[in-house]
This record gives sequence, C-alpha cells and structure tokens, in this order.
Amino acid sequence: MPITANDPKRKTWLDTSKDTDFPIQNIPFGVFLTRDDIITIGTRIGDYAIDLGALHQLGYFEGIPLTDDIFLQDTLNDFISDGKKTWRLVRNRIAEVFDANNSKLKNNEDHRKIVLFTLDEIEMQLPVQVGDYTDFYSSKEHATNVGTMFRDPDNALLPNWLHIPVGYHGRSSSIIPSGIPVHRPQGQTLPAGATEPVFGPSKLVDFELEMAFITTDANALGEPIPIEEAEDYIFGLVLFNDWSARDIQKWEYVPLGPFLAKNFASSISPWIVTLDALEPFRTKGPEPEKELLPYLQFKGKKSFDIHLEVAIKPESAEETTITHSNFKYMYWNMSQQLAHHTINGCPVNSGDMMGSGTISGPTPDSYGSMLELSWRGEKPVKLKDGSERKFIQDNDTVIMRGHCENKEIRIGFGEVSTKLLPVYEPKKK
Ligand code: MN
Repeated sequence: MPITANDPKRKTWLDTSKDTDFPIQNIPFGVFLTRDDIITIGTRIGDYAIDLGALHQLGYFEGIPLTDDIFLQDTLNDFISDGKKTWRLVRNRIAEVFDANNSKLKNNEDHRKIVLFTLDEIEMQLPVQVGDYTDFYSSKEHATNVGTMFRDPDNALLPNWLHIPVGYHGRSSSIIPSGIPVHRPQGQTLPAGATEPVFGPSKLVDFELEMAFITTDANALGEPIPIEEAEDYIFGLVLFNDWSARDIQKWEYVPLGPFLAKNFASSISPWIVTLDALEPFRTKGPEPEKELLPYLQFKGKKSFDIHLEVAIKPESAEETTITHSNFKYMYWNMSQQLAHHTINGCPVNSGDMMGSGTISGPTPDSYGSMLELSWRGEKPVKLKDGSERKFIQDNDTVIMRGHCENKEIRIGFGEVSTKLLPVYEPKKK
C-alpha cells in the first residue's frame, strides 16, 4: 500500500513554520490530556495537537476499519496491535484531511474547535504502556570507548560483540515522558582504593543518548521473527535518555550486567515517529566486520539517517549543546536486534520498547554519554556559562533532540527534556 502521507509536495492549511519537526509529512502518534482533562490519542502538525478521538467520532476516518473507541484510550497499544496496514491508512487519511486542497475540516469551525489544540492546552503522557523494555549495546564506537576505559584498549570489544547484538532486559516501570524530573539515585559504590562498599548518592550520574523503537504484537511463544520481516513489526521510534549511575554500575554489574544503575529512570520523547515517516531517510549502516550467522544477515538499507544532539541546561543559565551524533552509526540495526531478540522464541508484544544503546559517533564531539565526552572525568566539558561538567549536576536539565532532513523535508522527534533533582528526601510526618 502506498504511503501517500509521505508526499513531500503536500502542503497543509494549518500554519506551520518552515523548520518545524512536525510538517504534514511527519504525522507522529502520541497521547495527551486535553484542556478539559480528557485523555486522548492524537497527532501533531506544526504546533497544533490534533485529537484523533474527536476526529474519529466526527466521521473523518470513515471507510477505515477501526473500532469506535480506538483513539479514546490512554495508550496506543490497541491501535498499534491493529498492524501496519491500519497505521498507513490512518496516516494517509490524516494527511488528506489537513491537505491545503481539502476544505472539509478547514471550513468547519465547529469541528475545528473540537479537534485542534495549541500545545499550551495539552499535557503529553507516555504514549504506550510499555510491557517489556530491552536495551541493546549496538554502537561499536560506544562499546569500544567503554571497553578501552574499563578493561583493555587492545581488546576493547569482548569476543561476542561482533557476532551478537548484545542486550539486557530493563525495567518498564521507570520509563517516563519528557518533562518529568528524576531524583539523583542512591546506592552502593566501591570508592577508588577501598575494599568495602559505601552507601550514598551516586556521584557519577550520566545520560545515554539513545533511540528506542516500539513494536506491535510480533510472534507467538517459540516463533522467531525472520530478519526480512522484522520491520513489519516496528511501529515507530522515540528519543531515549537511558539515565545511568556510573559508580553504582561499576560495582554491581559483575557478573549479570546492569541493574540498579540503569533502572531508576529512562526518559522518552512523547511523539512516536512512525517507521513509515522515516522511509525517505533510509541509509546503509556500517559494513559487518565478521561474517554473520544467517539469521542476522540482511539485504538493503536498514539504517536511518537521524541527526541527534544533546544539550545541558544549568538551573539558571542558557543551554549548551555538548554533542552531535547520528542513528546511522549503529553497527547493529533494528531488524537485526528484533531477529536476534526472537531467535530463541521470546515473544514481543504491542508497546514493547527496545533501546538502541548509547549512540556514539567516530569523533570525540559525537560521543553519546558524559562518561565518554569527559573520558571518565579526565576532560571536563565546558558550558557557555563558564562552568564545567564531568557528569550531570543536581538541577541540570538534559535535553536530547533528533531530526532527519533532505532537500525537500525535515522530519523531527521534538525533544526529551529531563531535570535531575537532588537525592529524594522522605517527606516529614
Ligand atoms: Mn542504555
């Protein structure tokens, strides 16, 4: 089925700025609270949020097989379960309704009042109920940097790394949308030179610049997803800040991998940009350096050219952009990750979230974490206000942004912005 929603020539009757992340060719999906405190599924064009529940009730999705309440829900899980064909029909229809040449909604003021919201009238929510969250470790540059720092520069990559998209199971309970602050975690660490651990606030709180993809119901128990079908089960992507406490991580991760250093919070951008919307930005990823086992071999362009950046905003100073990276640097692509995740028969469900792992580029100004940017604290990062950061300080806000661009269009993700609060203080009774 053609993705008519992607027509780069299409213009909308809504006011949109030229450099918006959300032109009519994007049509992402999200969940928001309206000015009347009603929760609904919606999309966004320019700086307008569009209530898809209301649009459906008013008959604008006529002819598309959708249940009456599909958009009147507090998560996208059921809509995502409807599958790729339905996502395409709905995006194509939304593009038609807001096309500059279509006057049906444009000229109906009563309908417009019900359907359209400005961004200050809404509050974005988590777009899906995340059943399971898996985090990969798929950037070769990141894995090499971390291996160099913590193990051995001559053998930075562990022997499995070029054969397996390495990953671990995270916690979905602490995945939060942009705008929700996070407390500095406490835990056990082993200070340098000590033989016994101490308890206290993490001193090395870090971000991880990642993207995450969201799946639909993909397979039954026991049934692997072939790599060439994997993209049929990927609904879309969000920006993903996988908060990490490096000192807790260093002490706890042996031998079973990340635990409390990683599961205190992961923040996401609230609009899911569909894989369909990213079609024009397909690109080739890095060439495999080892012959891959057949279930991980793929044909064609499976990577996406998505510019990524991170800024730090101190409490009372302007923000400083501290790194620029790109999703295309990922050594293991999403199809390989999903094929590998299910090769043992592990079921993947609607709303599951798969983090890419920290996305570091080849140069020091493209690294995806403070650990790498400040090289374990040896090279502090300078901010515009004259201060320096080795890791994230209390009351700093970390902002991640991402977008794709070609000669015709720009498709963006908006941002994920999260403030780090001081350690949680129990309320006095
Ligand atoms: Mn991570």
